[in-house]
Amino acid sequence: MTDSIVDKNSCLFLTGVRHPPGSAGALRPGESSVVNSSSSKPIRALCLLSGGLDSQLAARLLLEQGIAVQGVTFTSIFFGAKAAEQAARQLDVPLLIEDFTSTILAMLAHPKHGFGAGMNPCIDCHIAMVRRSGELMRERGFQLVSTGEVLNQRPMSQHRQALQQVASESGVGDYLLRPLSAKLLPETEPEKRNWVDRARLLAFEGRSRKPQMALARELGITDYPQPAGGCLLTDPAYGKRLKDLKTHEGLDIIPILRLRLGRHFRVGAVRVIVGRNQAENQQLEKERQSAEYLLRPRDIPGPSAILPAGATEDELQQAAEICARYSDFLAGQPVLMEVQGPLGRRMLAILPAMPEMIESRRI
Ligand code: SF4
Repeated sequence: MTDSIVDKNSCLFLTGVRHPPGSAGALRPGESSVVNSSSSKPIRALCLLSGGLDSQLAARLLLEQGIAVQGVTFTSIFFGAKAAEQAARQLDVPLLIEDFTSTILAMLAHPKHGFGAGMNPCIDCHIAMVRRSGELMRERGFQLVSTGEVLNQRPMSQHRQALQQVASESGVGDYLLRPLSAKLLPETEPEKRNWVDRARLLAFEGRSRKPQMALARELGITDYPQPAGGCLLTDPAYGKRLKDLKTHEGLDIIPILRLRLGRHFRVGAVRVIVGRNQAENQQLEKERQSAEYLLRPRDIPGPSAILPAGATEDELQQAAEICARYSDFLAGQPVLMEVQGPLGRRMLAILPAMPEMIESRRI
């Protein structure tokens, strides 16, 4: 029989927790808190909620100590807030959703701490999220910021030095608490001031998720997504496309949104996007701007493709060959491709690209 990780018999309404000297602001409409005495202000923690298991557990450990928890999560064109919303519902805490798109686009240009295996600038991203949470902490009268980070769980962003960097470079410093690994980390200010009971925090470390899953069972948390599933920047295939876009075209929102659509090829200086099914063909045709070319086979079923108006004749020809390759062509027969461009409509008769050419151009 294993020891209980959290004392289930502990009282939700803590005694012996000191209150911050006049620091708790009035609760906003919709915010909830657990107050530890009828006359006192509550300790209020702003908890970063990704929606994953770790952030849920970290928030729950604070709730178990009678601390008023407010969740905060970040959304962007690379990740959404759905999992965090679900987690907040499950924890029964209010959730603040902050748009992070411009911040993460700026950091993708030159992340100070580099990228992970894909195009994920995780250390910079953590720092920016914690920094913003620190601003909210100060503006709204929270006493601490809490995250679900676990020491050494992720090789890039959760080793001891990275955790220190996040705390110091975010400006949150000693007010940043990691409840799941707190006992392995230096004591933070909320622990020193007895706002949080360090004895009831944990010492999780490493990549194994078994302790978290055991704790989740113990706390009755059943609904949580698989780890690292929610951020497109960690997807190797998506990262390859994004890297190519950054190198050749820059990171503007419309081309980034198009990265999820269709097959992508680099032909000379231009990107060619070829639909994978009827829905994508329709989407490409709808999205095509007047300054772009639209290609599609005229007489046989096949995909639509778009490429920029600045394409040279050679690039246009290669794009047509690639597009034709995905049509119902007859071997050895030319395909008549309709080309709609800024200067009108015309036809190109071409032979579909060979598989080697397709693979050499694929992004
Ligand atoms: S996985 Fe994505 S959202 Fe999470 S820290 Fe890394 S870059 Fe940011």
